[in-house]
Amino acid sequence: MPKISEDIIRAVTDAAKIEDVVKDIIGERRQDNPGGLHKAGVNMTCLCPFHDDKNDGNLIIRPSTLSAKATGRNSYRCFVCDAKGGPVQFLMNAEKMSFPDAIRWLGKKYNIPVDDVPVNWTPPPPKPVPPPPPPLEMKREWVRELMQVDYNQNVFTLWFGRLPWSEEQRKRIRQTLWQYCVGCYKDGRVVFWQIDHDGIPRAAKLMRYEPDGHRYKEKHGERNSTGWLYNQDGYRQECKPDEHTILKPLFGSHLLKRYPKAMVNVVESEKTALIMATYYGHPESQLWLACGGLKFLKIESMQPLIDQGRQVWLWPDKDGVKGWQDVADKLGSERVQVYTKFFDACWIEEDGPKADVADIAIRMLRNPDWKPRKPESTPAEPPTAEPIDAPLPPVPDGVSKDEWRKHLATMKSIADYDTDHPELIDEPFADVDEMLDPRLHHMREVIRLRYNFKNLRI
Ligand SMILES: [Zn+2]
Repeated sequence: MPKISEDIIRAVTDAAKIEDVVKDIIGERRQDNPGGLHKAGVNMTCLCPFHDDKNDGNLIIRPSTLSAKATGRNSYRCFVCDAKGGPVQFLMNAEKMSFPDAIRWLGKKYNIPVDDVPVNWTPPPPKPVPPPPPPLEMKREWVRELMQVDYNQNVFTLWFGRLPWSEEQRKRIRQTLWQYCVGCYKDGRVVFWQIDHDGIPRAAKLMRYEPDGHRYKEKHGERNSTGWLYNQDGYRQECKPDEHTILKPLFGSHLLKRYPKAMVNVVESEKTALIMATYYGHPESQLWLACGGLKFLKIESMQPLIDQGRQVWLWPDKDGVKGWQDVADKLGSERVQVYTKFFDACWIEEDGPKADVADIAIRMLRNPDWKPRKPESTPAEPPTAEPIDAPLPPVPDGVSKDEWRKHLATMKSIADYDTDHPELIDEPFADVDEMLDPRLHHMREVIRLRYNFKNLRI
């Protein structure tokens, strides 16, 4: 068999793209190929074919489309079995090909004549893509229904309201609970609605709390104190925590559209998100979302935040930094980073090695005279970053430029008015309502834009 020339090998390896090769061998992720290739931040991932992989996200594919300076561009690497290499190595290892055969395979794929030895391979015909399963959607009136309760009758909200808030923070309690659509279930559990970025309620998490704000400890043989409500054939039904594997939106995701310029802080528990939101206020510049636990901190739920160009800070608990750092590494986006300065400044011995962010915030509420260790750098405050600039709204079809300018001016006066009269946006559910009603679709745009009008020159 003739030897393949160095020039041809170089031409082939220059043309080969790791994302093409993995797509051909593993396939893209679809309903019938759940372990297939898909985006993960700036990278891509799929189940690793080189070890018995159960969770995707271990094999990181750095596509050829990254900037030429990016390390590891056009290569793959598995965090578990340490398999790594470029397109040629992937073919050799995944398909047990010899080096010359891998070059021939790639030559055929990229139309580079390699030699006259036929390649024992034809690209597979594209499989028909089955329609995606209907997403689980809850009825919006259920959100409203479970919110129509007296917060003073619920163990969690009662505890929450009785924390030693400052006067300023106390004014924010009700607004926070309403904004996050916190509800109460008939059996006394609190309801944390999981409403997605488009305002569609996907699921509701039910949790039982002790009067001291800790999670209720289940006694032997007792019914689950944590559960999920889903739409089952049009009825609101409870399932066990792991019964449904749908992607649950981050708690608070529905607020992203309302606050388009806000930085996003992601914490572990819903309780922590509510505490931090009340503690610091200013949702227009910083929002608090909760993932509900490290195992739910999925690349898929972070992807929309990256796509929106948000600055995202991950706030793990004291003992969770490594796990969260791994997720940030896998995402590989400079805009998603782990934030530990809060612990550097505020953690003290008595908080314990497993302290969570909320425990420390509550301790600081109880001792208002206690000051963080490095007050000069104010690291206890959430980090700030330049907010992203939303593009100016384009002139819609059928509207004259003058009419549009008038409309923008009205919007700006509304925005100014809102900013000067924050008490008037104390009924956030009205906004949520608008977001949920497709007939008021144009209002979504209004909500998205109204906070951008403050500094708009018309
Ligand atoms: Zn592996």
